[in-house]
Amino acid sequence: MHNVSIKTRIGISSIPQGLPFLAALTNASSALKVSKESLQNEIVWFEKEIGDKLFQSKKIITSFPKALSNEEILVLYQPKYDLISNTIIGAEALSRWQSDTLLMPQEYISHLESEGLIHNLDLFVLERICIDIKSWEQKGIPTVPVSFNISEMDLYYDYFESDIIKILKKHNVNPNFIEIEIPETHDPKIQTRKKTFIKTVTDFGIKIALDNFGTNTTSLSTLSAYPFTTLKITNEDVNNLLTKKKTNKIFTKALLAITKELNIQVIAQGIESKEHLDKIKTLGCKFGQGFYLNEPLYKIEFENLLATRKTI
Ligand code: C2E
Ligand code: MG
Repeated sequence: MHNVSIKTRIGISSIPQGLPFLAALTNASSALKVSKESLQNEIVWFEKEIGDKLFQSKKIITSFPKALSNEEILVLYQPKYDLISNTIIGAEALSRWQSDTLLMPQEYISHLESEGLIHNLDLFVLERICIDIKSWEQKGIPTVPVSFNISEMDLYYDYFESDIIKILKKHNVNPNFIEIEIPETHDPKIQTRKKTFIKTVTDFGIKIALDNFGTNTTSLSTLSAYPFTTLKITNEDVNNLLTKKKTNKIFTKALLAITKELNIQVIAQGIESKEHLDKIKTLGCKFGQGFYLNEPLYKIEFENLLATRKTI
């Protein structure tokens, strides 16, 4: 016997005079799509903003394959620093889409996720990193480990880990130079899949970072459930430390103590000022990244930084 729960979703469009019936039907379908994606709104009326958003989404999705082949997707590198010795210890790869204008990740990632296309972007970014690492090696530039971001939706793609390993082998890149920033996942159905994914890539030698720790529902037990080597605390956490609230400091200190015992490196993200940096260092956090240290850099800028190894 199985329990089946059924939810009703409704999309509605008015049919103003002059609007062809089929257009009204398309509008109602668009409203229905929004209601299906929403947790609260079971009944959604079509509005112009819904039409605009869907139009933008369609535009992104249809032009994405061409963007990949035309090299419109750029990979920028944001350096990560050892805050004590002031040296670069790695970088986070962040994508940008250069079309008529420069698109930021929040303008395309969710559309690619909802269409099941996000793994194509993330594998493209990985391949670009491998090519860049190899070119730095060939130029004799001492390179550093590079991390890339993945989405929860990537885990629905069965060949994700085997494609990752194939790319590293193809470019002969040492897996120790690659780290995957994995987000907190929500879907309970994906947990087993997540475990297999993490096991396969870590067995191969790739490191795993838990990204934006604490933004959602992660419990501290997550830290011992997976072999994370790095924990990234969020911009908000860094900002919270500047408030007078004592509990924020207590929490961060405790977290640093736990991660030290577990041999997990903590990186503070979003360091935007000297004040941020000083606070973070006082609490004993040794690693960080943020606009105050470096913004995400174009490949050539990052390459120059690596070659000269400037300290902050
Ligand atoms: P994230 O992984 O948390 O990456 C850090 C974000 O914070 C980046 O935003 C970075 O530019 C920004 N940032 C860095 N320093 C500071 C700072 O001091 N202050 C503030 N306020 N922000 C700072 P970005 O590049 O817009 O990326 C946003 C998110 O999009 C990333 O968050 C990541 O989750 C996702 N993302 C970016 N590129 C990719 C990608 O190729 N694939 C996937 N799946 N996700 C990506
Ligand atoms: Mg990240």
